[in-house]
Amino acid sequence: MARPQGPVDPERTNLLRFHDFDLSEPILRALDELGYEQATPIQEGTIEHLLRDRDVVGQAQTGTGKTAAFMLPILERIDPEAKDVQAIVLCPTRELALQVCDAARSFAKYLDGVDVVPVYGGAPIRDQIDRLARGAQVVVGTPGRVLDLLNRGKLLLMDARMVVLDEADEMLSMGFIDDVRAILKRSPWGRQTALFSATLPAEIRRLAEEELHSPRTVSVTPEVVTVEKIEQRMIEVAPNDKPETVDRILRAEKPKSAIVFARTKLGCQRLADELERKGHRVRALHGDMSQGSRDSVMIAFRASRVPILVATDVASRGLDVSHVTHVINYDLPDDAEVYVHRIGRTGRVGRDGKAISIVTRRERPKLDAILKLTGARIPEWTAPGAPEPVTVVADVTEPEQIAVVEAVTTDGVETPARKSRRGRRGGRRRGAAERSGEQDAAAVTAD
Ligand code: AMP
Repeated sequence: MARPQGPVDPERTNLLRFHDFDLSEPILRALDELGYEQATPIQEGTIEHLLRDRDVVGQAQTGTGKTAAFMLPILERIDPEAKDVQAIVLCPTRELALQVCDAARSFAKYLDGVDVVPVYGGAPIRDQIDRLARGAQVVVGTPGRVLDLLNRGKLLLMDARMVVLDEADEMLSMGFIDDVRAILKRSPWGRQTALFSATLPAEIRRLAEEELHSPRTVSVTPEVVTVEKIEQRMIEVAPNDKPETVDRILRAEKPKSAIVFARTKLGCQRLADELERKGHRVRALHGDMSQGSRDSVMIAFRASRVPILVATDVASRGLDVSHVTHVINYDLPDDAEVYVHRIGRTGRVGRDGKAISIVTRRERPKLDAILKLTGARIPEWTAPGAPEPVTVVADVTEPEQIAVVEAVTTDGVETPARKSRRGRRGGRRRGAAERSGEQDAAAVTAD
């Protein structure tokens, strides 16, 4: 079977099916149950190479199916009899590590004796050491914690035959690159290495040149999320009417799964409390919560036990949930790019989504910036069944020329479009989702 190398045409519809790959029956059964039939372009482009022990550079963003792209070949080749670590995946955040771990466990559902263990900072290292001591063939972790465990001799990589760097550019921008290099130095020389990254800045290219052996490079441009697939609405209200309006929207829309974005941690908690008082099944997710509570909220939301999440941008980073049907902007973000990033949480993998923004008069300039950036038309939200809404268009002459689709799935990474825009702004700003936790902290007082 000839496998494409280099750019993959994202428009192709005749993609391979999982049964076309050399995957074993237990994995195929799990994929069938998960509803995976056709491979996504990044999966089609990389799985076969990885199964054949080749190193791979996969240029793909969140939402493209990259987790299965590297995890299926890992699982396929695990020896369940051996209890040593046979593969390690490094991720920039604990949220992503947990997400990758969950995905791996769901793919490995019918593989007996295969254990996938997450290790990450902000949680007691003792528990993770105990868990590792019981045996784990696949470890998914953040670089700092992995290095710590290596230094303590509690994680041993001499039998690791595969190392995956997931979201390598994020690891770079979060300052973990030296840890990543140190971990690579301590893993076996003859290992297979796969590097996945949305963008390939010079430092990541250098890393790939130094650490990977004749890698096949596969890049896909994002296809699964486009703002066109997302129905955007706005509703203008007085500031004090915002909580009431969210309540109204939730009652009218009855979303299966919604994220309500609030700008500050305090505002986020208050809104969640208020919505709960009004009878909604809702949880808050923000940086003032302990890591344990954040993890349990994410798990409950991912498993659809909690349909409504009120979250800040920073806390919801790395939360990639394909079933989100609604994004509600309780506050508009200061940065129009963050809006695009937020609404990209819905409409994943070809599904339709709805984004509703609640806007006050004072937020109008922010709305204009969003309209200008996206070139979109945003009709006014009205309850389902009500007369046709009014459309709001930008108060500008011409929309800025950008490929919106690029910005949507970036999860805060640099795209050529973003880079060129930033260049025009004199390099002043970083992509908002790129910023670290200080934003949450700073925002408390802004509420
Ligand atoms: P990822 O980019 O790996 O985070 O995947 C994004 C979402 O797409 C996840 O919810 C996956 O479960 C889903 N997904 C990945 N690959 C496929 C596929 N081939 N068919 C259907 N859903 C998929």
